[in-house]
Amino acid sequence: MPNSITRNLVTGGAGFLGSHLVDRLMAAGEEVICLDNYFTGRKANIAQWIGHPRFELIRHDVTDPIRLEVDRIWHLACPASPVHYQHNSIKTAKTSFLGTYNMLGLARRMGARLLLASTSEVYGDPEVHPQPESYRGCVNTIGIRSCYDEGKRVAETLCFDYQRMHGTEIRVMRIFNTYGPRMLPDDGRVVSNFIVQALRGEPLTLYGDGSQTRSFCYVDDLIEGMIRLMNGQHTGPINIGNPGEFTIRQLAELVRARINPDLELVCRPLPADDPLQRQPVIDLARRELGWEPTVPLEQGLESTIAWFRELIGSTQEPQEVPA
Ligand code: NAD
Ligand code: UDP
Repeated sequence: MPNSITRNLVTGGAGFLGSHLVDRLMAAGEEVICLDNYFTGRKANIAQWIGHPRFELIRHDVTDPIRLEVDRIWHLACPASPVHYQHNSIKTAKTSFLGTYNMLGLARRMGARLLLASTSEVYGDPEVHPQPESYRGCVNTIGIRSCYDEGKRVAETLCFDYQRMHGTEIRVMRIFNTYGPRMLPDDGRVVSNFIVQALRGEPLTLYGDGSQTRSFCYVDDLIEGMIRLMNGQHTGPINIGNPGEFTIRQLAELVRARINPDLELVCRPLPADDPLQRQPVIDLARRELGWEPTVPLEQGLESTIAWFRELIGSTQEPQEVPA
């Protein structure tokens, strides 16, 4: 029977970003197939939808092909934290390449539109600052981050070749560091690390001297940008991130001020190829999608800390931080 409801496939749908996207699509009354191999995703993230008539959950690895009837493919499946993507780097490269290849094959067969969750890591350790989409990047092809960086670069290449050769409808989104509820407490990313360390009353670990910078986008803003990109006419690649740039030391100060200002900051060795600076130029997103972030870091940290406090408990009393 013909069905007028949009049928969405969200790969990596049990992960951090994927599960927030699933929530938005379900709330909009659409059909959602959530596909995940649970490497870094958790059923708990989408448990609220299990049993819902518009929701299906499939345990599957995107490195294997799959046939499904869908209109839109949100291709997010890939570990995002350096600790996780370096855990089995060959698998990460396979997930990026074969996973994207399989999903583009599905998009082509079904005439579906595919959105790729690419990354600011395609810019590597950038020599141009801040980074516009036209910057081609400075990536070490043989380093410990390459499985992910080069994997996402070739995933972008595949998208554009499917568009040129087969007319496949693609959307390519370059996501900058995003944080919020449902990050894994042990996934090693800086926001979750600092919050979890502080809630446990432990020192916060600065890699290097903490002078490297990142730009942190709150998850709700990110998902709004993702949906606008999928619904709009612009193919991308397009940067989605919060242009507010902070040193890692500043981030540590913001977190400990909210949990326990007496906690120590300790320095640890800087991992190889760790980018020194990162900040998106978002003029294209503003112009093409009418999108810009609305949640400042201080505000997003409050809700993320509250969520982690609930998840892991804490011996530390919440602190009043003057506005
Ligand atoms: P995440 O690790 O929480 O989610 C990734 C999901 O993909 C997990 O549920 C995991 O189990 C699943 N997965 C991994 N490999 C798979 C495979 N082979 N087959 C099926 N499922 C698989 O990470 P996230 O932060 O939600 O990131 C989602 C996407 O966004 C990733 O593609 C990531 O590269 C991209 N991205 C995220 C950020 C960020 O700051 N969160 C930044 C840049 C890009
Ligand atoms: N980082 C840190 N302490 C930590 C975890 C990370 O100083 O406990 C640093 C890391 O070296 C990097 C930055 O924080 O410079 C962001 O790291 P993350 O893994 O979150 O993301 P990415 O490096 O992929 O941007």
